[in-house]
Amino acid sequence: MQLLERVKNCNGCGACVVPCKHNAVKLFDRNSEEAAELILKYADKQSAEAKAYKASGRYGSDGPGAKKIAVLNEGACDRCNACVLFCPIFNPVELPVFEEWYEYDPAFDERDMPKLYRETMRKARAGQHTEFVGTLCQIAALKSLNGDKIPQNLILKPLLCSKEKRDSEPCCRECAFY
Ligand code: SF4
Ligand code: SF4
Ligand code: SF4
Repeated sequence: MQLLERVKNCNGCGACVVPCKHNAVKLFDRNSEEAAELILKYADKQSAEAKAYKASGRYGSDGPGAKKIAVLNEGACDRCNACVLFCPIFNPVELPVFEEWYEYDPAFDERDMPKLYRETMRKARAGQHTEFVGTLCQIAALKSLNGDKIPQNLILKPLLCSKEKRDSEPCCRECAFY
């Protein structure tokens, strides 16, 4: 099984990495050999990428802020399904209505998101005042990993993905959150 087989327009949020006990899910650059082979194979699901590839021969941008994609090591996988169930594209979560937005910077996409989700949940569950800054797909990932709940002591700070930013990445063009 590959996540791309079941998830349409994977945005590289990294939620699927966290529940895997075998460390079998990794995030790859979209233009890497590993990702490109799978995107082509599951082109019907990764429609935005396939269209972008036809137009430019690339699957997404490179450099700072470039989106990643989830690739599963099938040899290490015991098919428990946890990665798919926590994917907020496969299993959608409802997001709060945000009134205040923050400016996006590509540096936010350079963070180790699975590690950050774990740390954020640990702090919030310990009852500490916790803040999480992220794009809507990252907030959806955190909420999904937290059992579709946001505790009161966890303050969410959403980063606004401008139309220009969304147009710059194939998976963002078909973003489920805007
Ligand atoms: S959780 Fe879903 S959208 Fe996020 S990286 Fe994994 S497969 Fe892609
Ligand atoms: S199905 Fe289970 S073991 Fe396989 S990659 Fe997903 S979480 Fe890991
Ligand atoms: S537009 Fe923003 S929220 Fe949507 S997938 Fe892209 S980075 Fe995530």
